[in-house]
Amino acid sequence: MKFIYIVLAFCIVSCTDTKKETAHLDSIYFNGDIITMEGDQPGYVEAIGIKDGRIARVGTQEELMSMVGDSTIQKDLNGKTLLPAFLDGHGHFYSVGFASIVANILPPPDGPGHNYESIVDALNQWKESEDGKYFIDKFGWIIGNGYDDSQLEEKDHPKSIDLDKVSTDIPIIILHQSGHLGVINSKAKEILGITKDTPNPNGGSLRRDANGNPNGVLEENAMYNVLVPILGKADEDFDSKCIKKGQEEYAKKGYLTAQDGRSSTAQMAAFIKGAENGLFYIDVVSYPDITLGPENVTEDYYSTDHQYKNNYRIGGVKLTLDGSPQGKTAWLTQHYHVPPQGQDKDYKGYPVMPDSMAIKYVKEAFQNKWQLLCHTNGDAAIDQYIMAVKAAEEAYGYDDHRTVMIHGQTLRKDQIPQLVDLEIMPSLFPMHTFYWGDWHVESVLGHPRADYISPCRDVIDAGLKITSHHDAPVTFPNSLRVLDATVNRVTRSGAVLGPEQRISPYEGLKTLTEWAAYQYFEEDRKGTITEGKLADLVILDKNPLKIDPLNIKDIEIIESIKEGKTVYRHP
Ligand SMILES: [Zn+2]
Ligand SMILES: [Zn+2]
Repeated sequence: MKFIYIVLAFCIVSCTDTKKETAHLDSIYFNGDIITMEGDQPGYVEAIGIKDGRIARVGTQEELMSMVGDSTIQKDLNGKTLLPAFLDGHGHFYSVGFASIVANILPPPDGPGHNYESIVDALNQWKESEDGKYFIDKFGWIIGNGYDDSQLEEKDHPKSIDLDKVSTDIPIIILHQSGHLGVINSKAKEILGITKDTPNPNGGSLRRDANGNPNGVLEENAMYNVLVPILGKADEDFDSKCIKKGQEEYAKKGYLTAQDGRSSTAQMAAFIKGAENGLFYIDVVSYPDITLGPENVTEDYYSTDHQYKNNYRIGGVKLTLDGSPQGKTAWLTQHYHVPPQGQDKDYKGYPVMPDSMAIKYVKEAFQNKWQLLCHTNGDAAIDQYIMAVKAAEEAYGYDDHRTVMIHGQTLRKDQIPQLVDLEIMPSLFPMHTFYWGDWHVESVLGHPRADYISPCRDVIDAGLKITSHHDAPVTFPNSLRVLDATVNRVTRSGAVLGPEQRISPYEGLKTLTEWAAYQYFEEDRKGTITEGKLADLVILDKNPLKIDPLNIKDIEIIESIKEGKTVYRHP
C-alpha cells in the first residue's frame, strides 16, 4: 500500500510537473536550420523550446507547437540559422573595451593605418573627439592601437619623430597590432628619462638608431613597462566603460562567453567591482598573469567547479613564454627568414624567461590545480612549455588539467605527439593566414614554415580538440572571420596558405562551440543544443555549412541570445 502510494505520488508530481513545464515554455524557435553541434556530423532539429534560460525541449515543430502556452513567445526563424553561441578560445576582454575607446590605427579593412601619415591623421582626429578628450583628461596620454609595420607602405615602424607631428607636449604611445611592441614620441621619452644610456630591460628591447639613441620603438617588456603604469590610472568610471563596450563587441559577433587571457591585478579588481555592480550580461572568464602572484586566484570568484557569480569567474592563470611572430619577437629554433632591423641573420627571437622559471610557474599552476593558459608562438617556446609541463606532470600530475597552448603559431609536426601525450589542448590562431600570411612567407618564416602555421588539420587528426581564436584586440572578436580563416586560410593577396591544414566548416564551428566549451570545462552547460544546457544561442543570416566557404566571412549575426534573453539584435 505504501509502495502504491509512493508510485501514485510520484506520478502526480511528475505528471503535473511535465504539464506545468510544457505549458509555460518561455519561447520556441522554429522554421530555420537549427544546428545542434552534437556529434561528428552536422545534425539538425526542427524546433527548440526555452524555459528559465535553458533549452527545455528539442524536437519536431509539431511536438514543440503542442507545448506552446499563452505566454510562450514564438520565434519564427524564417529560414535563418540557429546555433549554440560562440565561446572565445582566447582574447583579452578588457583590452577590447579599451581598444574601442582609444584611437584606431589598425590597417585596412579594420582601420585607417596604411602609412605613417594616416596614423598621424587618425591620432589628430581622435585627440579632438569625445573619447579622445575624455581619455587624455583622465590618463594624460594619447594612445593609438593597432598599427602594423607589415601593412604600412613604409614597411617599418613609425619612430618618435613621426609621432612628434601629433604632439610635442603630450606623451604618446601607439601599440603594435600584436600587442607586443609599441612606439613613443619624444615627449614620452623625456618624461620617462629614456636616453642613449638606458639599458634594455629583461625580456625586452629598445630599438636604436645608428648612434645608439632609442628611436622610440619598444619591444615586449620595454613596452609593457611604459603601458602598465598608464593603465594603472584607470578609475571605476573608465573600467565600467571598458566592461560595457567590451561586452557589446563580443555580443554583436555571437560570443557570449569571453576571455580575459592575461589579466593584470588592476583589471582583476575592475572585473570584481564590475561583477559586484552587476555589469556583466555575457559570461566573462579571466586568467590573471601568474607572474603577478597567487593572490589573484584566491578571490571569491574562483571556483573549482567553474561556476560563475554575476556572470564572472576566474578560470585559472596565464603564462607568457615569448612574443609575436609578425613582430619577430617569437622565440624560434631556426632563424627568421629576414631578420628585423639591427639583428644579424642568425636572429631567432628570444624567450621571456629561463627554463627554470618556466618550470616553476607551470609547477605552481599544477600544484594548485589552476587551469593554465600558456602563450607560445615560436617553436622554441613550445619546446620550453612541453618541457615544463612534463616536469609539472611528474611533480604534481592530475587528471583532466586541460592545460592550453595559446597560439602555437609555429608548432612543428614532431611536437604534436608530445601535446597528445601530455594532454595539452591547442588554441590555435589561423586568423594569421589572412592578416599576416603573406608577411610570414616574405619576411617572417618563408616556405615551408609559413605554410604550416596553426596546423589545425594535423592537430585534429592527432585526436586533439582545438579552439580557434582572434586574440582580440589583436584582431576584432569577429567570429565569422575566425571561422573563415580556419576553413579557408586565404591570405590578403588571395593565396591559400597551407591548403592541407584547412578544416571543414563543421569542424570550424566546433572550435567555436563544443570544443571551446570543453576548453572552459563547461561542456555540461554550453557548446551544443542539448536539452538541459543553457539557452546561449546565436542566429546567423546564412548557414555556414550550406554556402560557398569563401562567403563565410560575409555572414551576418542577426541575434545573440544569452540564457533565453536577447542581448544583441542586428540593427
Ligand atoms: Zn598571446
Ligand atoms: Zn593574447
